[in-house]
Amino acid sequence: ASGYTLLRDPRHNKGLAFTEKERDAHYLRGLLPPAFMTQELQEKRLMHNLRQYKVPLQRYMAMMDLQERNEKLFYKLLVDNVEELLPVVYTPTVGEACQKYGSIFRRPQGLYISLKEKGKILQVLKNWPERRIQVIVVTDGERILGLGDLGCQGMGIPVGKLSLYTALGGVRPSACLPVTIDVGTNNEQLLKDEFYIGLKQKRATGQEYAELLQEFMSAVKQNYGEKVLVQQFEDFANHNAFELLAKYSSTHLVFNDDIQGTASVVLAGLIAALKLVGGTLANHKFLFLGAGEAGTGIAELIALELSRQTKAPLEETRKKIWLVDSKGLIVSSRKESLQHFKKPWAHEHEPVKALVDAVKAIKPTVLIGTSGVGKTFTKDVVEAMASFNKKPIILALSNPTSQSECTAEEAYQWSEGRAIYASGSPFDPVEYNEKVFLPGQANNAYIFPGLGLGLIISGAIRMHDDMLLAASEALSAQVTQENFDNGLIYPPFTNIRKISAHIAAKVAAKAYELGLASHLPQPKDLVTYAESCMYHPEYRSYH
Ligand code: NAP
Ligand code: MN
Repeated sequence: ASGYTLLRDPRHNKGLAFTEKERDAHYLRGLLPPAFMTQELQEKRLMHNLRQYKVPLQRYMAMMDLQERNEKLFYKLLVDNVEELLPVVYTPTVGEACQKYGSIFRRPQGLYISLKEKGKILQVLKNWPERRIQVIVVTDGERILGLGDLGCQGMGIPVGKLSLYTALGGVRPSACLPVTIDVGTNNEQLLKDEFYIGLKQKRATGQEYAELLQEFMSAVKQNYGEKVLVQQFEDFANHNAFELLAKYSSTHLVFNDDIQGTASVVLAGLIAALKLVGGTLANHKFLFLGAGEAGTGIAELIALELSRQTKAPLEETRKKIWLVDSKGLIVSSRKESLQHFKKPWAHEHEPVKALVDAVKAIKPTVLIGTSGVGKTFTKDVVEAMASFNKKPIILALSNPTSQSECTAEEAYQWSEGRAIYASGSPFDPVEYNEKVFLPGQANNAYIFPGLGLGLIISGAIRMHDDMLLAASEALSAQVTQENFDNGLIYPPFTNIRKISAHIAAKVAAKAYELGLASHLPQPKDLVTYAESCMYHPEYRSYH
């Protein structure tokens, strides 16, 4: 191959890091300025440049440019500066990027499968240059990170998520495939926008929608086999997400991060919090504000873990968990009119409308916010929690920051520094009564990269809820005494690759135990094995 081509191949390009020898051997002489730079120096220069940009979207675009130019350097930056760059390549900046995808669109990333490709999806998959795909993240753009219907512009989400599979979980970039399924959009603004990149029609629904998805899922299995992980229906609207997950979990290796990943990361936080509060999960009572994908997904995993620990049937353990939706406490008298995924949570109780009254009536030890509506954990709600709990556990999970149920500062102040708090969006450290609290973030990025790696290294062919529980336990085990002393129930992100290796090992072990692993024989030391399988962003030398 010519040197010119090499410089334009993001997978192999090293820019000024090509050595003198490599420049001779690969016809690069004269195509580069004479200076040589190590990868570390390149990294330093790029980080310096990035920090000059004050607008987050500019940082995002600079990172996307880098990914298109020099993949290894892109991942080196991401791995070494994970806390700084996670909000750039993923939420919240990726949301803004999706909103403006039409105007910042340069080179297409990922695969677009629209209604036009109906009947040809297998062919479309074959147009993708890589054969050995291990993880697919797919969206239909209907409900992007609380920003609503962004249609085809939702592509930013699978692209961003997969870059985290690689940076945080060590999955090879060439094994990752971002997909956007375009069945139209109901976003009027996009439909009117002359620069909109997607199909200009209202969303297809019902049978037309189901058939396209079915064709996609069949084509995926036919082209990539049983072991490909489909992180599915990322940010699909929830009427579809539950049904699709149930439908495909028996025939494919599917995972829904909004439902299952969220549940696993929150359960991990709760298991860790128990070390601060004492007792077991069974000593606790849970109240949720918000009974959608996140809320019911978390509730179900808690019930499952409770049932596993106490040997009580699920129907029993669910009774320790209560949910409030937009109409108030979910109670049995509402059962007839409830969506099916809420029915298991309709317990015997008189109707209660306001959250604060539900808190007073149920007396939960754990309060979890998953409604997407901010400022709902008001002073009286937090004070009520603090009145009957020595250490109330309060998780304000709604994103973005403006939608947090309460801020970290509010939680600590209103509970006189007794709350154990974590949130969906990051908060700065809080000083209260001369003690500094570091509020933890229940970020899904703790779980899915390691979970994905675990599924891959074991060659798992199906997901199982026990794998989510295993991932939760592995994550909670990574919280150190020092973290606890700072009020954290999650470990710091800086160690995420090590954390991912431990999660991967536990998930893989569970896959073997359940007979769902196809990679045989089972490696002896799964943590070491997981680490050895991880992609590293350091340059290789070309001879
Ligand atoms: P969703 O499926 O749309 O569910 C929202 C739920 O909240 C619904 O049950 C809805 O009630 C209820 N709700 C809405 N407004 C309410 C109000 N004023 N009072 C009481 N309940 C209200 O959304 P989701 O996917 O579960 O996400 C919810 C939030 O969780 C989002 O902000 C998301 O960012 C956050 N989240 C955080 C994490 C994390 O921290 N790792 C992960 C996932 C999601 P109805 O059912 O009656 O409409
Ligand atoms: Mn999501």
